[in-house]
Amino acid sequence: MRQSSLPERAAWLLGVFVAYVATAKLGLALDPVGGFATLVWPPTGIALAALVRRGPGLWPAVAVGAAVANLTSGAPWPVAAGIAVGNTLEALLGARVLAGLKGYTGPIVRVRYAVGLLVAALAGPLVSATIGVLSLHGGDVLPAAPGVGVWQAWWLGDVLGALVVAPVLLNLGKLQELGNAGRSRVLESLGLIVAVLASAALSFSGDPTAPLRRPHMIFPALIWAAIRFGTWVSSLMVLSISCVAITITARGTGPYVAATTLHENLTALQGFMGTVALTSIFLAAANSERAAARLALKEDEQALRVALGMRDEFLSIASHELRTPLAALSLQVAGLERALSKRSNGSDEAQRELHRAGRAVAHVERLARIVDNLFDVSQITAGRLQLSREMVDLSEAVRAVAGGLSEQATRAGCSVSLSAPTAVTGYWDRFRIEQVITNLLTNAFKYGAGKPVEVSVEATDSVARLRVRDHGTGIAPEAVERIFERFERFASGHHQKSLGVGLYIARQVIDAHAGVVRVEQTSATGSTFLVELPRAQDPAHASQAPSAP
Ligand code: ADP
Repeated sequence: MRQSSLPERAAWLLGVFVAYVATAKLGLALDPVGGFATLVWPPTGIALAALVRRGPGLWPAVAVGAAVANLTSGAPWPVAAGIAVGNTLEALLGARVLAGLKGYTGPIVRVRYAVGLLVAALAGPLVSATIGVLSLHGGDVLPAAPGVGVWQAWWLGDVLGALVVAPVLLNLGKLQELGNAGRSRVLESLGLIVAVLASAALSFSGDPTAPLRRPHMIFPALIWAAIRFGTWVSSLMVLSISCVAITITARGTGPYVAATTLHENLTALQGFMGTVALTSIFLAAANSERAAARLALKEDEQALRVALGMRDEFLSIASHELRTPLAALSLQVAGLERALSKRSNGSDEAQRELHRAGRAVAHVERLARIVDNLFDVSQITAGRLQLSREMVDLSEAVRAVAGGLSEQATRAGCSVSLSAPTAVTGYWDRFRIEQVITNLLTNAFKYGAGKPVEVSVEATDSVARLRVRDHGTGIAPEAVERIFERFERFASGHHQKSLGVGLYIARQVIDAHAGVVRVEQTSATGSTFLVELPRAQDPAHASQAPSAP
């Protein structure tokens, strides 16, 4: 609610006053019980919406409007003043209830707000009906006997005013954003208007005993309005139907003319319209809430995408920039280690220095591997993984990698047994295949609990198979596929040391070779990773490499 200037405030006060008096006069023309308690009382809705949207400062328009409407309808001035007090308190109380809802700004676009409106619509009229009826008794407009019927009519008329009229003003301008704007939207709107008018005409006019002319027939069109057009159109349709139904009933036709007096007929009609209004309000609010949640989800997804894009870009730049100085550092440290080793006189001090240099070399190598992995991930993500194929012997590659990792295996306490009896050749990218073997073996050492690791290579004419088996604690069933995704890590105790990219790179590399890498078997006593690579014996066949079985 924003601050308004003096002329603006005056215009609002005048506008609310005029609308209040005009609609009050309409209501009071419809056979009010006891002369003043009418079943059709739009002013309650107007006052509630005005105070919610423009602030409680508009209360004088409500007070004066109520007093003038009743004075000009024959109420003595103390009675009119009493009624005005009750009606003003009703509006202030209702507005207070709605203003107390967290995040509420006006439109009924959450189920919570619909509940708030219902509470305001039921509670406010308790005050106005009670003070109004007491004023009528006090001013001798009603006989001394308590006017329960009058009170009931007053309360029901006000409740309906709040439920049927207020939502139109509260939701004003709140149109549902639908994807298909334009011509089809116009056609749908026309369809809705025809459906509402036709169902209202069918439901409320003509022969009330005809089996297909029942009031509940308006529901499909109202549900259509609530779901497809949102809260404002939905509430506008309810108000339109209410106007049509009241007019028809006041003329003495339609399904609500069973009783002899108009106010009895209107009581029945308003009971029905209350149900209609509530259903529409809650349905439209729930639908709005769902649409808002969908939109929020889309925005979150968008933000997440941007964040992931930035992360990938950062990784790409950072890993690229780090590779060159790391390579230089690696050479320098290795050179230092060599120099120290040459100069070593075998003393304890010299041995310690040599040991420290060796550890520095290992650390730099590990760092270089991490950066290389990150660089590979960024290249793969950008679709820039390129294979440089040549004839490769898988058995030999496994032997070479296992040999190179022997120190790591020893540190992990794992012995490696190798079964690669024959040469298994294929037209593959040597560097990448060695990278896959390295990643699988490194994992077997990391997660193999210091137990033996078995590696085997075998082949058929068309497929080469590599198996790496460890005897660690295995992989949880729900993680078996996810470990091949980027940055996925599961084993406890290793999180700080790992990035979760080794198996991702392995899968991308093997995919690029049209092969398969997967967990073949896993249990509490270890896991077996299987790589299957299609074999092509010479470059001429490489483009039609047989696919893995
Ligand atoms: P990293 O080992 O760097 O975390 P990887 O992509 O190589 O990344 O592995 C992803 C996850 O898969 C690991 O964090 C671990 O939880 C699980 N994993 C991989 N290999 C094994 C294995 N041999 N035994 C048990 N778990 C494994």
